[in-house]
Amino acid sequence: MADDANPFESLQEQIDDASAYLDVAPDVLNRLKHPERVLETNLTVEMDDGSLEVFRAFRSQFNGDRGPYKGGIRYHPGVTRDEVKALSGWMVYKCAVVDIPYGGGKGGIVVDPKALSDGELERLTRSFAKELRPIIGENRDIPAPDVNTGQREMNWIKDTYETLENTTAPGVITGKAIDSGGSQGRVEATGRSTMLTAREAFDYLGRDLPGASVAVQGFGNAGSVAARLLQEDHDATIVAVSDSSGAVFCPEGFDVAALKEYKNETGSLTGYDGATREMTNEDLLTLDVDLLIPAALENAIDGQLAHDVRADVIVEAANGPLTPDADEVLTEKDVHVFPDILANAGGVTVSYFEWVQNRQRFYWTEERVNEELERRIVEAFEALVDAYEAKELPNFRTAAYVVAIERVVDAYLEGGTWP
Ligand code: GLU
Repeated sequence: MADDANPFESLQEQIDDASAYLDVAPDVLNRLKHPERVLETNLTVEMDDGSLEVFRAFRSQFNGDRGPYKGGIRYHPGVTRDEVKALSGWMVYKCAVVDIPYGGGKGGIVVDPKALSDGELERLTRSFAKELRPIIGENRDIPAPDVNTGQREMNWIKDTYETLENTTAPGVITGKAIDSGGSQGRVEATGRSTMLTAREAFDYLGRDLPGASVAVQGFGNAGSVAARLLQEDHDATIVAVSDSSGAVFCPEGFDVAALKEYKNETGSLTGYDGATREMTNEDLLTLDVDLLIPAALENAIDGQLAHDVRADVIVEAANGPLTPDADEVLTEKDVHVFPDILANAGGVTVSYFEWVQNRQRFYWTEERVNEELERRIVEAFEALVDAYEAKELPNFRTAAYVVAIERVVDAYLEGGTWP
C-alpha cells in the first residue's frame, strides 16, 4: 500500500468535495458522512488442534434510506473498523449511482484466511453468521462476497441463517453458488462492469480501445475478469498484470486466460515464462499506458505516487484505490479517473438481480443477466457524464457523488425524520 490514509476520512472528503456542487443543507449532508450503526464482535473459534482463537469482526450499516443495507464481507489481516465503515459508505453511493434499491453496508473479519484450514474457515464463517443473524435478512441487510470470500462462504452463511431461522431465505445473502440460489453471471459481474466502464469511457473520450495498452494491478476476481474481457471482447493489449507477489510485463500483450491458468496452478504470477520481465507493483502503477486498472486494495495510489502516474485513463476496479490527494494531483494532470462506485458496481448490480430471482424463485439466463447489467452500467455512465458536463465538475468522481448523493438525499427527505 502506498500510504496509510484513513479510508473513512477519504470517504468523508469525497462527500465534502461533491457538496460544493450540491444544493443540500449541511445538516442533511452531515448525516450522510457517518454510519447508522456498527457491530463489533469477537468470534471465538475452535482451531483444528483443539485450541481457541478470537477473531475481531465488524458489520457497518451505513445508510438505509434507499433500501436494505447491502455490501460484502472481507477476510483480511488488515481489516479495521474505519476501513469497514468507509467501504459501507462507498456501497451507499455505489448502489445509488446504478440506481438499485439498496442502502450500503460492509463487513470484515481480521484474519489471514490462507493461514486457516477449510474447517477452521467454516467454523469462523458460521460463527460470524450467528452474530449477524439478528441484524441481517432479505429486507434488512444482505451481505455478499468481497476480498478473500466467495461462493463457499456465502453458502455457509445462508445455511447458518436458514437453520437458525428455521426457514428458507436465499435472498439473505448474494454471491452464492448456482445450486444454492446464486445467479448466472455473478462471478464475472464486477470485472464486467469495469470492462463496460472502460468501453464507455474510451468512447466518450474519443479513444480507441482495440490496441490500447492496459496495466492491471491485482489479479483477483475483479482484475482478472476485467483484463480477460478487455482482451477478448475489445482487443485491448494487456501489457502488465500484478498480484501480491509482484508484476509481470509483456509489451506485446498477455494471453490473459493462459496467465490466469498459470496463476491458478502456481498460486502467483511471478515466474510466468510469457513475460518479458518482472517489475514491482509501483512500477506497474507508473507505466506509460493508455489505461490503468487498480484492482487490489485501498490507497494503491497516493498523492506522491500520483505525480509519477503516466496512464491517460484510470478505471477503478478496487474500492478506494486512490486517496483524495491522488485525485487532486490526477485532476490537475488531466488524467481521467472513472470511479469505483461506477466501475465496480457490476458486482452489487448482479447481486440485486440474484436477490430479485431468489424472491421470485424464477431464474434468469446468463444472457439476460449480462444484458440487464450492461443497460444499468451504460445508463449510470450517461447520468454521470450529464452531471459532469451540466455542472462543469472537476472530475468524474465528483460527478458520481453528485448524482448519488442527490438520489440518497431525495429518498431521505421524502421519508422525513423520525422523531
Ligand atoms: N463486495 C462487492 C462490492 O464492493 C459486492 C457487494 C454486493 O454484491 O453486495 O461492491
